Amino acid sequence: MQILGSGGPRINPDRASTSYLLWIGSQAKVLIDAGGGAFLRFGQSRANLGDLSLVAISHLHPDHVSDLPALLWTGQSSRKQPLPITGPSGNEGVPALPAFLSRLFDSKLGAFQVLGPTLGGPPVAGAEGGIRLEVGVADVAKPEPTVVFDKDGLMVTALGIPHGAVPTLAYRVQTRNVSIVFSSDQTGTNPRFTDFAKGANVLIMHMNIAAGAKSPLHASPGVVGRIAQEAGVGRLLVSHINPGFDLDAAVAELKQSYTGPLTVGADLQCTPVQ
Ligand SMILES: [Zn+2]
Ligand SMILES: [Zn+2]
Repeated sequence: MQILGSGGPRINPDRASTSYLLWIGSQAKVLIDAGGGAFLRFGQSRANLGDLSLVAISHLHPDHVSDLPALLWTGQSSRKQPLPITGPSGNEGVPALPAFLSRLFDSKLGAFQVLGPTLGGPPVAGAEGGIRLEVGVADVAKPEPTVVFDKDGLMVTALGIPHGAVPTLAYRVQTRNVSIVFSSDQTGTNPRFTDFAKGANVLIMHMNIAAGAKSPLHASPGVVGRIAQEAGVGRLLVSHINPGFDLDAAVAELKQSYTGPLTVGADLQCTPVQ
């Protein structure tokens, strides 16, 4: 598992916004989120778009999706077969992933009409049309996990998690008897998430607020630690870190409830999963 972006929404000299790559052998197979800076980090990782089996989007905050158009604006030589992409259902304040993509890429009404071919629109003469997408969606209100991908020994499930009013999904990727769980942004108040993360070899959680702080959007470091401890994961990796954040104090609070192996995320850092 490689981190492309270990930062959050704040402007950051060292960290791109959220993005992760799951490598299997020498191929990058799953891209989770594509926040600002993911385009550059994807290039630095030497991953190939043609190798990806799935792009999984957790939610539609800009720090998780703003580099998606940049990544997709490439010629057919990068990838000929359609690219599965999945993401959350919507509500009155946020579109579902399919509507979000239409608003971006529709060849008549989209913001990036030049990317119309990503959704099956006609190519624009002389321009790179982008990679053809195969769009899926998972209902965030469903209490049980949804299987969003199951092919070639790679299974990905999604579970709705609380992140203010923004429909948000956590993902669990299982392959070759190992599992990695991507928590995304969440308050940690869906008790089903602990079961969803149970026994994962690596659990990636977002530590976005300071020790002792409260937020309607994010879990405190103590809650992050408690969830990892209760889920009995092999390793906890914390990410989504903004500048000016007192990391040492947050890690100290987290360690009051979590006693297992811990990694503080950094861009392009790789964590072997076995
Ligand atoms: Zn975020
Ligand atoms: Zn968010």
